[in-house]
Order: sequence, then structure tokens, then C-alpha cells
Amino acid sequence: MSIRGDVGHRFRDPLVEVGDFARDVLVRCPACGDRAIVRWPAEARWREGGGPPRWRLFCFACGKSKDIVTSAGAFGEPVDPYFRLPLWLQANCGGKVLWAYNAEHLDFLEALVAARIRERWAIFGTVSAEGTPGAYCYANDTASAMSLMSRLPGWLKLTKNREQVLHVIRRLRSSLPPAPGSEGRPGGSLGRHG
Ligand SMILES: [Zn+2]
Repeated sequence: MSIRGDVGHRFRDPLVEVGDFARDVLVRCPACGDRAIVRWPAEARWREGGGPPRWRLFCFACGKSKDIVTSAGAFGEPVDPYFRLPLWLQANCGGKVLWAYNAEHLDFLEALVAARIRERWAIFGTVSAEGTPGAYCYANDTASAMSLMSRLPGWLKLTKNREQVLHVIRRLRSSLPPAPGSEGRPGGSLGRHG
């Protein structure tokens, strides 16, 4: 899934919801304060089949590990949806809290904020107002109205806040270790000036 769009110019709403980023959530370890992750481990997915997911907290620094079984996640705050631990990626941004669950979520925010043109699309294959099957149509569609892009707070999308928001996003990314196979991180997508 490509969620980053063309950084700096055009961003087309990929119709992701915030929960789509919540399978790997970086948090502050309750034991040591360092970087930890809350995720749904692959082996638990396989074992438990259709039951409620078992979410696991694991700390990269001290090795703390803890499981919780729940399908009731609380989204939309700078805490992970399951243990409700403070997110690793959060920072003050002009009196508001800018937060992201993980690097991909940060990439999404960066691409959206940096874009000069933001497009909201409905799902390919829906019928347009003119009744043309297969055409894209504009936003009065449930998927578009539910998307993360349309639900982000207004201050994040204001042109006058763009530079400040991008600065905070880059600072947050610098708190992440380099991702395997992606040279240029930390520093991220804007660092490559593609
Ligand atoms: Zn720890």
C-alpha cells in the first residue's frame, strides 16, 4: 500500500483510517521509558484464528514483555489503543500535540501536510454522479468521509502551519532507528529530495 503520495506537490487521499496504522504502535516503555512497541504478533494471529487479538508490548531496550487480549481499541489520542501507554512519536506543535503510531503514520502525515494539492477520492469502481461505472467520484462517499485525511484536525492542514508541522515531523523521525532496507532514515522521505 502506497500511502505517501508525491511529497511536496499532490496528495491523493489513500482512504486509510487511523486504525490501519495501529498494528505496530511505538510507545514509551512503562518500565524503562525507552522505545517499545505494541503489536499483534504473527504467531498469535495464526494460533487464535477468529478470537479477539492478543496484543503484545515489547521493549527494545529492557526486554519487558506483556500481553493483553482485547479487540476494543481506543483511537484518536497520543496513547496506544490497547495498553494506553504514551506514544513514542509525539511532540508539541504550536500548543497542539502532533502524534503518530509509527514511521508509516509519520510518512502519511508528512506527505499530506507537504502537499500543495490534496485530493479526496472515493473508491475505484464506485459509480460517479453521472452514473459511469469505474469512474472516480468526489467525497460524499462513506469511505472518503471516514478516512484519516478527512478526519485530521484542521490546524494540521493549514498552510500557515505547514513549515512548523513538517519540522516537528522530521524531528520525530530522527528519534527512530534506521529502518532495514531504507537508506536515508532517519532523515526520511524528504531527506532524499526525490
Ligand atoms: Zn523498557
